[in-house]
Amino acid sequence: DLPLAEVDPEIAAVLDAELGRQRDTLEMIASENFAPRSVLEVQGSVLTNKYAEGYPGRRYYGGCEHVDVAENLAIERVKALFGAEFANVQPHAGAQANAAALTAMINPGDKIMGLSLAHGGHLTHGMKLNFSGKLYDVAAYEVDPQTFRVDMDKVREQALAERPNVIIAGWSAYPRHLDFEAFRSIADEVGAYFWTDMAHFAGLVAAGLHPSPVPHSDVVTSTVHKTLAGPRSGVILGKQEMAKKINSNVFPGQQGGPLMHIIAAKAVAFKIAGSQEFRQRQERVLEGARILADRLSAPDVAEAGVSVLTGGTDVHLVLVDLRNSQLDGKQAEDLLHSVGITVNRNAVPFDPRPPMVTSGLRIGTPALATRGFGATEFTEVADIIAAALKGGADVEELRNRVTKLTQQFPLYPGHEEW
Ligand code: PLP
Repeated sequence: DLPLAEVDPEIAAVLDAELGRQRDTLEMIASENFAPRSVLEVQGSVLTNKYAEGYPGRRYYGGCEHVDVAENLAIERVKALFGAEFANVQPHAGAQANAAALTAMINPGDKIMGLSLAHGGHLTHGMKLNFSGKLYDVAAYEVDPQTFRVDMDKVREQALAERPNVIIAGWSAYPRHLDFEAFRSIADEVGAYFWTDMAHFAGLVAAGLHPSPVPHSDVVTSTVHKTLAGPRSGVILGKQEMAKKINSNVFPGQQGGPLMHIIAAKAVAFKIAGSQEFRQRQERVLEGARILADRLSAPDVAEAGVSVLTGGTDVHLVLVDLRNSQLDGKQAEDLLHSVGITVNRNAVPFDPRPPMVTSGLRIGTPALATRGFGATEFTEVADIIAAALKGGADVEELRNRVTKLTQQFPLYPGHEEW
């Protein structure tokens, strides 16, 4: 049984190169994070060998006594973390969690109403090429063209006109809190289920730094790998009365054998997310995003036609508006890449440029907060980004400033290989 470097040097080289990239650059993709060593250890463990179709105590395979312990721990921990009545920890990813949630609530042909993809929603909330857009009738709501915020009066009006069967709160690119109580009351008024997809902000909710959708929603889905910093995967929370339907729509509805190594790693991540250290880290996430929003709203940046959508942020990300800038989203992404900062271009609502180009950037702070960054470092990062986006900066000098930060905060110290 040989080590990877001998069995497959090509893939070993990919791991080396990727570890180097993560160490030597500043990761600011809002949906990314660094899973801790403990989580990586469980993901790369013998639990991957086990088939365990079914649920703890009710499996279709023998030998599940140990993986049952892991799955029960994951369930109990995530319920406690979010104050949920019920949890299913088996979804392989966020998209599978969302598919199971929708099929548990409604039938093909029924109507769903979520935030439009072009305005920050997710593919699984009704995009036409996604299962959600193919299986269901879709009525998307949009942000207000002046404030760029979700206007609950308009959502209510649209819901009364469209009569959706499910109303969706949640987003992939939106910098503000949502009003979960208002969503609940609109759903009740039109007789719809209320589903929240908190994939992006779940870590903030876990830390008590963001309003929780759990008390107000029939179903809440999430990924575990974004602000929660766990293994790449999904989870579903819900009211007890949804338990049976959700379980059967995950397995056998959407999936076969659960990934027991990932489920055990989720248990570890949920344990960490309940810690004081995690809460402090999420405070730095929010502080960093605010520092970034402030710096990118300053007059010297505004002069270059760069601004911040909604004028700030309540969460872990900032949406940069480049509609009046010389740079489009693609150019800005490439420029930041060249100074060693990884972000993604992102369409702004009502974007005049095509989706492969866009007029925006989505910049997030979770991964750098995990790396240890606090106010001082985020101030420096924000200034580097501002200098790049203003134009005319010395790229080499900015790259050196980035390198200084990466060296000050080594990632996965003590590991020469992975
Ligand atoms: N839901 C939201 C709001 C997301 O932002 C994402 C990921 O981008 C997902 C669901 C899907 O998660 P996954 O990529 O794990 O399928």
